[in-house]
Amino acid sequence: MILNGSCLCGRISYRISCVREDAEVILCFCSVCRKANGSAFSANLRVRLSDFELESGEESLTTYSSSPGKIRVYCAHCHSPLYHIKESEADYLTVKLGTLDSWNQTLSELPRREIFKEEALPWL
Ligand SMILES: [Zn+2]
Ligand SMILES: [Zn+2]
Repeated sequence: MILNGSCLCGRISYRISCVREDAEVILCFCSVCRKANGSAFSANLRVRLSDFELESGEESLTTYSSSPGKIRVYCAHCHSPLYHIKESEADYLTVKLGTLDSWNQTLSELPRREIFKEEALPWL
């Protein structure tokens, strides 16, 4: 499975060349992800860093460290949140699923984890 994604303005595009067995969909309901994504929760795909390739727009990447060791990566122009990396899990990268351009139904077959459910907005 090859996945392609991009930011809202299109300057940054990326490709995930392979979604391996250890990939997982992570839905995070924490208050930090809500603010970082401007959304009620964040939908993520955790993949191996070696399977992620930036195709264009490297010069447009900008980062924000929301907590020590966690770096959130955005487009400096349109501010789409693209992915985050954790220094404690240096071999992995977590892509923001809303930036995918190619949806593939097989994503629903991946393991799915919901985290910080206790912080979820009550109306969800
Ligand atoms: Zn952009
Ligand atoms: Zn979170």
